[in-house]
Amino acid sequence: MANKTETAAKAVFFDRDGTLNVDVHYLHRVEDFAWMPDAKEAVRYLNDRGYLVFVITNQSGVARGYFPEQDVLTVYEWMQNDLKKSGAHFDGMYYCPHHPHGSVPEYTKDCDCRKPKPGLINAACEKYHIDKRQSLLFGDKVSDMECAENAHIRGVRYQSGSLLACVKHALGDD
Ligand SMILES: [Mg+2]
Ligand SMILES: [Zn+2]
Repeated sequence: MANKTETAAKAVFFDRDGTLNVDVHYLHRVEDFAWMPDAKEAVRYLNDRGYLVFVITNQSGVARGYFPEQDVLTVYEWMQNDLKKSGAHFDGMYYCPHHPHGSVPEYTKDCDCRKPKPGLINAACEKYHIDKRQSLLFGDKVSDMECAENAHIRGVRYQSGSLLACVKHALGDD
């Protein structure tokens, strides 16, 4: 589909726990989910400005045997449905279910996708022909910033307050 006349896509990548939603350890039940302030508004803002919006998240609870991989997808589906009510959407989610010291053999490995490795971002960029120079990653941890650096995209640290305000500030729209 991509060709030389097509404009490359620009994207925003959001870490999940601690960035889009309140970080309760190993969140895997919808009942425990709470959006960060203005998180849905931030996604809508980016949708409206032509950014592809992705969730990129480490979910080592799968490798640790705390919850099945399906729970990651169920939470994501719930997030999508809730966003829809606000006229917003994600374009995709990339997650790492692995951990080098897990307890579930099939997920226990030193993979290339666990942040701060850039595998999740690179996979999205390849599939969607994303221009990294126009793209950003928002995350709450140093490891997210390292991931952005490793993927050669701009990283923006978010820790509290309005996620929309953080996004606008990063884009120079405030
Ligand atoms: Mg986080
Ligand atoms: Zn992985």
